[in-house]
Amino acid sequence: MAILKDMECDGHERVVYCRDDSVGLRAIIAIHSTVLGPALGGVRMWPYASSKEALRDVLRLAQAMTYKAAVAGLPLGGGKAVIIGDPQRKKTEGLLRAFGRAVEGLNGRYLTAEDVGMTVADMEIVRKETKHVTGTSEKKGGSGDPSYPTAKGVLYAIETCLKEMYGDPSVRNRTVAIQGVGKVGYPLGELLATAGARVILSDTDPQRAMLARREFEAWRVEPDEILQVECDVLSPCALGGVLNRKTIPKLRCRAIAGGANNQLENPSDARRLEERGILYAPDYVVNAGGIMNILVGLQGGRKGYDRAKAEGLLRQIPDTLHAIFSKARAEGLTTAQAADSLAEARLQEASAQKMDAGARRAVPLRGRTGRTRVRR
Ligand code: NAD
Repeated sequence: MAILKDMECDGHERVVYCRDDSVGLRAIIAIHSTVLGPALGGVRMWPYASSKEALRDVLRLAQAMTYKAAVAGLPLGGGKAVIIGDPQRKKTEGLLRAFGRAVEGLNGRYLTAEDVGMTVADMEIVRKETKHVTGTSEKKGGSGDPSYPTAKGVLYAIETCLKEMYGDPSVRNRTVAIQGVGKVGYPLGELLATAGARVILSDTDPQRAMLARREFEAWRVEPDEILQVECDVLSPCALGGVLNRKTIPKLRCRAIAGGANNQLENPSDARRLEERGILYAPDYVVNAGGIMNILVGLQGGRKGYDRAKAEGLLRQIPDTLHAIFSKARAEGLTTAQAADSLAEARLQEASAQKMDAGARRAVPLRGRTGRTRVRR
């Protein structure tokens, strides 16, 4: 019942449970909103402890996608999918294709892409069953893995935080701590190291951590230490919920800007960060580079993907963040509240426009009783 209440409160349009015993598929697709466009959001494969945990995750992630697209001014709605299972052991062609059929069944209201536990190669398999797949290989005319543009957007967000704090956006000789050097964290580390930043990193996969440490000449710390290292900017690039009542008192960073979705365990954690004087760049603003890139791929159609256009969109992330920081200061809001407020204003405006357009399209009809009725 509590979960149904979450769905009601957050206003999800549709939630679908997909099951195919022949290939071991257990998946949930959540469409939070299609007010601004089709619901776009990646599919995450993760060994959730229960269906309930998976449902909670997908509901929160789908809602964040709606806000991400809205605040970035993109004509996209928000959705997300989760496949329950360990991607190392349970991912098979049959399972991916069964997931593709479930996506196809939604007739384009939900567009999928890769997320944690999925790769561009996996999405090519999903594509055998549905065309509603984004972020497929550039060689095949797609916009490619969204992770690199996401990482670039995170870099721009880190620079924006530095500008806000020190008046200078340069990362040179600044210290950035990255939690998780996966598809987003790894290229982010490379970009930072190339620009002269001091990088501290950790990953629960020791091999990835060692490789990144060598490649970027970074410092490596254990996963349970990364949130407590002294740094200018902490960049969570692993999973959500890392900023909470237990971790926030121990942080030793000046700002937070990372690629992970849903970094705050609870909305009230934004106020906790503010009280500690830590500048928080809202996660869904920082990590919008991936969906910006996907949108450019979708709009390219047969002409294909336009890299310059994608870079132009990424360059808007600093402007959006500056607007959020200013609004938060002016109105006494946390930066998370300021971002939500900008996103909600855009959603309300789009809903109102849709209703207006619907009313204008309404055709007066003569009902059988002779009274006028309206057809939409
Ligand atoms: P990924 O699975 O490739 O990388 C995550 C990395 O974090 C892995 O290397 C994993 O070993 C590590 N990790 C997990 N728990 C950890 C912990 N407690 N401490 C340190 N390391 C830990 O995933 P990704 O695609 O890089 O995504 C990372 C985050 O960014 C996710 O929250 C995802 O939703 C978000 N995101 C990704 C994209 C994208 O384009 N890939 C776009 C927007 C948001």
